[in-house]
Amino acid sequence: MATTQPSGVPVKPASRGGETLTFKALDKEDPEVAELIRQEYRRQGRTLELIPSENLASPAILEALGTLLTNKYAEGYPGKRFYGGCEVVDEIERLAIERAKRLFGAEFVNVQPHAGSQANLAMYMAVCKPGDKVMGLDLGCGGHLTHGSPVNFSGKLYEIHSYAVDRTTELIDYDAVQKEAEQVRPRMLLVGYSAYPRVIDFARMRQIADSVDAVMVTDMAHFAGLVAGGAYASPIPHSHIVTTTTQKTLRGAWGGMIFSATEEWAKKIDSSVFPGTQGGPLVHAIAAKAVCFKEALKPEFKEYARRVIENAAALAAKLQDRGLKLVSNGTHNHLMLIDLRPLRMRGRPVQDAADTVGITMNKNAIPFDEAPPFNPSGIRLGSPSVSTRGMGAEEMSEIGDCIGDLLENIDDPVNRDRIRERTLDLCNRFPIPYALD
Ligand SMILES: *Cc1c(COP(=O)(O)O)cnc(C)c1O
Repeated sequence: MATTQPSGVPVKPASRGGETLTFKALDKEDPEVAELIRQEYRRQGRTLELIPSENLASPAILEALGTLLTNKYAEGYPGKRFYGGCEVVDEIERLAIERAKRLFGAEFVNVQPHAGSQANLAMYMAVCKPGDKVMGLDLGCGGHLTHGSPVNFSGKLYEIHSYAVDRTTELIDYDAVQKEAEQVRPRMLLVGYSAYPRVIDFARMRQIADSVDAVMVTDMAHFAGLVAGGAYASPIPHSHIVTTTTQKTLRGAWGGMIFSATEEWAKKIDSSVFPGTQGGPLVHAIAAKAVCFKEALKPEFKEYARRVIENAAALAAKLQDRGLKLVSNGTHNHLMLIDLRPLRMRGRPVQDAADTVGITMNKNAIPFDEAPPFNPSGIRLGSPSVSTRGMGAEEMSEIGDCIGDLLENIDDPVNRDRIRERTLDLCNRFPIPYALD
């Protein structure tokens, strides 16, 4: 299937011996939706996806997700359901649980949360009463909405005391967190991030939590795949509870899960997921999680996780060579933030200009940003999706040059056209690893 984008530049179909997904029934029943899905396939195929929370789920995962399992109501847990006919879906959920525990070396996991935010909602409900004090990383310093933003349930239901990064190093200052914890005496110390480009000292965070009798919860939504692949320290041995998504670096379909170390927390977590905050589990999504964990248990996944970090380092090095300032001066994980203030630019126009040259990235606040959230002073980039497409250090360096060239001359249409040709060439050489008929 040769495809053509509006400008007339041909896009090669996926190659490299991948699977071909088809839509026989959907084409007959609803060609309008089928065509929109094809359009999105083409968009993903001809752009460099640098949003660090995105990735490419495998055809096997997509197939498991698109099944008749969505017909089944299975409120409850394997062996303890509120509905009949659950003998098969019990096996599916048990398989997902067994694989997740093996993958992360955990004692207990609940695989039912519909997404990362739902995992966190249930986790809060298991740990805190409304009004309890919670310490989480400030949103502008890389925290997530569910870590206490005033527009989120977390900020509305709990008394939030955020911790910031150090103004100079832009790193977490553990001594400052310790001091703040002693003053606040929180019920929960929430660790983890959506936009922090470094490693975290989980053992130190646990010491801080223990010193004030707080529960330590780590939200590894962003870096779960790096932990699974052995490329990033695991928070599991250090935390009372760990929450995550499955769709980010872990490369599954959309979903969430919650791990815990003890039987006591396990019971509270199970009851706060169901019936506390959700009804029936998405059994099709649980099947897709099981497939995702099987893939992540393979040796190739370790190689992928290692390459994600290597590629982020290569991109960061090139951006710095091009004179760009990165938050904390670099990265130790899969993501990085460009501080646009020295260029006197803002995130929104840069994100929009990048869209026109086939690079997808997102505007993002940087620590102590004085610009408003809808047009902040930073850009967030990451390597997971392009790593899944097979790109390596050389391609990351080329992408870094494309971004450098774009920022040097952002409004020049000739410059943009030239960059668009280079990004299309990369996309064509590293296609989405499956075709869509
Ligand atoms: C992405 C993210 C979530 C939420 O995940 P959704 O699946 O989008 O609800 C929660 N916590 C952190 C740290 C995240 O980065």
